[in-house]
Amino acid sequence: MEFFLILFVVLSVLFFVLFVFFYFLHKRNLKILKGISHIISDSEENIPIIKMIDVLKEMKANLETRYSEATKSRENMRIILQNVSDGILIVDSEGKVTINNSAVCEFLGIENCVLEGKKLVEIVENYDMLNFIDKNLKEFTNGSTEISIVYPQRRYLKCDAIPVILKENEHVLIVVIKDITSERELDNFRREFISNVSHELKTPLTSIHGYAETLLDDDFKDVETVKHFLEIIENESARMSRLINDLLDLQKLEEGKTKFEFQNIDLSKIVDYVSRIVKPMADSLGVELKISCNKEIYVYGDFDRLVQAVLNLTDNAIKYTAQKESGVKSVEVSCEIINENECQIRVKDTGIGIPSDALSRLFERFYRVDKARSRKVGGTGLGLSIVKMIVEAHNGQIKVSSELGKGSEFTIILPILSKVSPKNGDSIPA
Ligand code: ADP
Repeated sequence: MEFFLILFVVLSVLFFVLFVFFYFLHKRNLKILKGISHIISDSEENIPIIKMIDVLKEMKANLETRYSEATKSRENMRIILQNVSDGILIVDSEGKVTINNSAVCEFLGIENCVLEGKKLVEIVENYDMLNFIDKNLKEFTNGSTEISIVYPQRRYLKCDAIPVILKENEHVLIVVIKDITSERELDNFRREFISNVSHELKTPLTSIHGYAETLLDDDFKDVETVKHFLEIIENESARMSRLINDLLDLQKLEEGKTKFEFQNIDLSKIVDYVSRIVKPMADSLGVELKISCNKEIYVYGDFDRLVQAVLNLTDNAIKYTAQKESGVKSVEVSCEIINENECQIRVKDTGIGIPSDALSRLFERFYRVDKARSRKVGGTGLGLSIVKMIVEAHNGQIKVSSELGKGSEFTIILPILSKVSPKNGDSIPA
């Protein structure tokens, strides 16, 4: 009996303790739920639990919508960024990339373009670029600079740094990188061109001025010397006028202002015309001129312009062959069909030849292998660039091969008009 009494008391105490525990637990949960409902409703009023669950569900749905919208707009931003031609790089205050587009990787030669989270020093090899970003990041200021890089290719890049505060303690630097290579190259080209033209004009002008001055001081007794000086003046002024004509020609060709009168032309007529012009010069310089262009090959082109191109090559060939001190001196101009779509005019000489490292630069304006020699033969350094432009206007190509001391071969390749020779004067629609 006593045992049952003790058991009863123990169980009662245990029950009481459990009751108190669950009561406080329930009270605590209620307090938490009330707190949440207070936050949600933003009012002091209590919200029934059921309603609160609905509110929470609505909140979840809202959050999900907002999250998917945010993801979508981030994705849209990424698409836009990837399609911007300028490089965009966003760096956080620790110098880590937060956003970048593919143009950045292209400009800086970065192969694996997943840069987010990487430190700048790990990805940017160019010291000037690193320095620029680092400085603007530390000072948190706007900045602008121009950087030239050589890898993966020579480029000029204009970099602008814009500091932005996104939220408190979230400072980023936006770096916009613009490729200004073509502008810079054009500037350099213009500068070089002006300096070349001035130099080319200055040389004959100085010579003309010098000889004219000497003549003015002369008593004209030595007729031979006077004649020699006048010849020099005549030669130099002719060279100046050639140079100016070449320059005007080049400018017109470049601006597309040259009028091409396209018609059916037999290549042999061009070669024949050129050979009649250069024959006297070849004879006087002791250079044998061979022509092998008997077959009729028709191209669609401008007769005068094609004559100008072939004349230029043949003139060079004769002059630079005559410069050779000994050995066979001959120039051969030939034309032939090379395949069912193309034909070629070849100007081959046994002259002084061209060093292999000069071949790739030969068609540049004012490029000469040997300046003194070019001047000696009355060259302007513009002939081959004009030839190239004329050939390209005919959808053709020009090739050169040469061996120093042995001779050179220039080949103009043109599309064939038709395998059957059309009647003279037939016009082909452009
Ligand atoms: P240039 O008026 O000086 O001849 P071009 O543009 O016609 O200018 O030629 C450029 C350079 O190419 C020349 O200065 C010369 O050095 C070289 N060259 C051209 N044709 C020949 C050739 N047939 N043989 C050797 N060198 C040549």
